[in-house]
Amino acid sequence: MDVTLAELVDALPAGVVVTDPDLLEKYRRDRAADPAAGMPLAAVRAESTEHVQAALRWAARHRVPVVPRGAGTGLSGGATAVDGGIVLSTERMRAIEVSPRTRMAVVQPGLLNTEVKAAAAAHGLWYPPDPSSFEICSIGGNVATNAGGLCCVKYGVTTDYVLGLEVVLSDGTAVRLGGPRLKDVAGLSLTKLFVGSEGTLGIITEVTLRLLPAQPPSSTLVATFASTRQATAAVLAITAALRPAMLEYMDQVSINAVEDMLHMGLDRDAAAMLLARSDSRYLAAELEMRSMAEACQAHGATEVLATDDPAEGEAFVVARRGVIPAVERRGTVLLEDVGVPLPRLPELVAGIEAIAAARAVTIALIAHAGDGNTHPLIVFDPADAAAAARAQLAFGEVMDLAIRLDGTITGEHGVGRLKKAWLADQVGGDALDLSLRIKQALDPLGILNPGAIFP
Ligand SMILES: Cc1cc2nc3c(=O)[nH]c(=O)nc-3n(C[C@H](O)[C@H](O)[C@H](O)COP(=O)(O)OP(=O)(O)OC[C@H]3O[C@@H](n4cnc5c(N)ncnc54)[C@H](O)[C@@H]3O)c2cc1C
Repeated sequence: MDVTLAELVDALPAGVVVTDPDLLEKYRRDRAADPAAGMPLAAVRAESTEHVQAALRWAARHRVPVVPRGAGTGLSGGATAVDGGIVLSTERMRAIEVSPRTRMAVVQPGLLNTEVKAAAAAHGLWYPPDPSSFEICSIGGNVATNAGGLCCVKYGVTTDYVLGLEVVLSDGTAVRLGGPRLKDVAGLSLTKLFVGSEGTLGIITEVTLRLLPAQPPSSTLVATFASTRQATAAVLAITAALRPAMLEYMDQVSINAVEDMLHMGLDRDAAAMLLARSDSRYLAAELEMRSMAEACQAHGATEVLATDDPAEGEAFVVARRGVIPAVERRGTVLLEDVGVPLPRLPELVAGIEAIAAARAVTIALIAHAGDGNTHPLIVFDPADAAAAARAQLAFGEVMDLAIRLDGTITGEHGVGRLKKAWLADQVGGDALDLSLRIKQALDPLGILNPGAIFP
């Protein structure tokens, strides 16, 4: 072992620093499986803020790159390891304290989203943000990417629940930002600066989260359409009239991929399916469900099914959550996350269909439709070099299309390494320059997640 690394190993308790190449393999990539992943010197499985500080002080002293890692479910290569760097994993930082009196939780970053929800539920409370990956992703990763999810159309995204943070900066200093206050405008909004910063500005070591009273029982509506145009028109009609607790979209490729995997009896012939929810109470729920059904029927739905049986409703949500794993069974997937202002959703969906046809690639399309946030999944046979090249072209064209429609290259997954080439086109040179100045101020040595977000 090299002398420098031995210094890090000595500074931390036994078992915290992993250097065995076989064990390091699992820390090299996130779910985007970036082929350019490097080989890290070590993974540091920190158990406390002090361990993170020790690792960063060592890294700053020796100018070693540090790639923060939660559960590695990211879809943009944000946690891709770099050659000669370390991976700073928070998987062992798993404490949580729920305060029912203040309706808040103080959580370490390695706890999974589902575990935060369960701990809140034990006190009759609810942590809403629900990425489809909620059973496998960490709360630290959620904060670092500002994760969204299915109920965010009504309840907002991760940042709306982050009241405070403890962050370890690139020189090893730990700072506390925000805190257990619902309103707090003292000083610059530094807490929010770190939400969605994808590990490029600091390492999040503790989060203070806002919780809500438990969600009321919800009713679920499923509608199928013979054309994607009708389905997106129904989305616009529903969102113009009310705020559903969920409004998700699946196209025919997605429906068939899920049906192959789960055999649920979904309509394989439908061009698109919408999944909508109301969690309002009593008469309000009835009115919302009726209004959503009418909007679907008015836009030519071939079938509309409504249920207030939670198990039946959940089965359809499971189908929606299953799309990414189901499509991954069909080949290599390039997963996009483009979003547009809602009125432009029909143009985005039609444009993506046109790109798929022009490039002769298969694109499965799912969307958090009520947020105008789509996930085109470009799937190809990795053994077919020509198909892989066409898929790469389509990947860029989808982001170009979103930018032309006044949209974003990423609504919730982050820029990571795979989308950074398009960032300047979206935000413009001045905004990128300002971001680089902030990065330079907080990480002057450029050791925090180099290669992510920034050129
Ligand atoms: C099947 C599937 C479905 C998904 N559905 C959704 C969805 O609906 N909505 C959604 O938003 N995302 C979704 N995702 C993407 C992913 O789960 C989220 O981006 C999630 O927030 C990543 O969490 P993680 O713990 O896995 O983070 P990682 O992948 O480990 O890291 C993600 C980024 O955060 C940084 N990071 C991680 N922890 C820290 C920390 N403590 N401090 C500083 N930086 C840190 C990393 O460096 C990296 O840049 C899905 C993924 C899968 C596989």
